[in-house]
Amino acid sequence: MDNLNKLFEETLRDVYYAEKAILKNLPKMAKKASSDKLRSAFEEHIDQTEEQVGRLEQIFESIGKSARGKRCPAIDGLAEEASEIMQEAENETVRDAGMLAAAQAVEHYEIARYGTLAAWADKLGMKDAVRLLETTLEEEKETDMKLSDLALSEINIEADAGGAAGKSSRSASRNDAARASERRT
Ligand code: FE
Ligand code: FE
Ligand code: FE
Repeated sequence: MDNLNKLFEETLRDVYYAEKAILKNLPKMAKKASSDKLRSAFEEHIDQTEEQVGRLEQIFESIGKSARGKRCPAIDGLAEEASEIMQEAENETVRDAGMLAAAQAVEHYEIARYGTLAAWADKLGMKDAVRLLETTLEEEKETDMKLSDLALSEINIEADAGGAAGKSSRSASRNDAARASERRT
């Protein structure tokens, strides 16, 4: 890899692999979600992800390369964490909070990647690619914000109430919840 064009192509393959992995994992998470709102947030993002895959394929075509992924260890690791949370959470409200957080970690990875790709495409004078990459970047940011709003308005509160039936002391978790609501996730 000795030029920015090549680096752009390799990173495009990285995010293409990541989007395909996300398309496999999101339906599993939607199926496990107990909150209707969380489930529909996941389902809505499945549809968006399909469009994002299509945008990447358009970019591959525009640079005369076949659309193929390159294994992304980061997304594999994030998916592994998500599946651990799904298995280990002992009640559904806590599982929802854990899955929502796992989904946000994925959005943040995508935001980093698409931000970089858009900047490189701009540097390389690829106007159409910039537009496509920025469209996806905005969708990922909106998804992240939507998940934050859902966490703060419902999912974390329900997880705290659900989890309190278990072992933690009520006053301690109430303080944690109050502190958490003062900042954005
Ligand atoms: Fe995506
Ligand atoms: Fe990667
Ligand atoms: Fe996404």
